[in-house]
Amino acid sequence: MTEAGPELEKLKQKLTDERKRIEEELTTLVEGESSESARESMSELSMYDNHPADVATETFEREKNEALIRNAQSILKRIDMALESMEHGTYGICSECGHRIATDRLEALPYAVTCMTCQERSERKA
Ligand SMILES: [Zn+2]
Repeated sequence: MTEAGPELEKLKQKLTDERKRIEEELTTLVEGESSESARESMSELSMYDNHPADVATETFEREKNEALIRNAQSILKRIDMALESMEHGTYGICSECGHRIATDRLEALPYAVTCMTCQERSERKA
């Protein structure tokens, strides 16, 4: 565990930076979302002019936006979990099998909570 010290600091910094970036992204998405629904309630008054294809596109755009918001929120949650596990000294331990997660995986995905093997297994299941 001794060599994990400076490494952990680096990853913690990375997580903190990533958290900030995603929070900003989320703010932009949520703002876009509310202006989108404001525009929609306005256009409801002129529903007769609305081409069905346009409505479909708008719905699609909104759903895409909602999916992005959900995704950003779930990453934020994972980042918080990772930061918390650093506090508890359990960072980098797979939540599925309890083995250590490979360092290069953590460097690529600092908020990974499962090892590559468990990740692949859950992806195959889904
Ligand atoms: Zn595992």
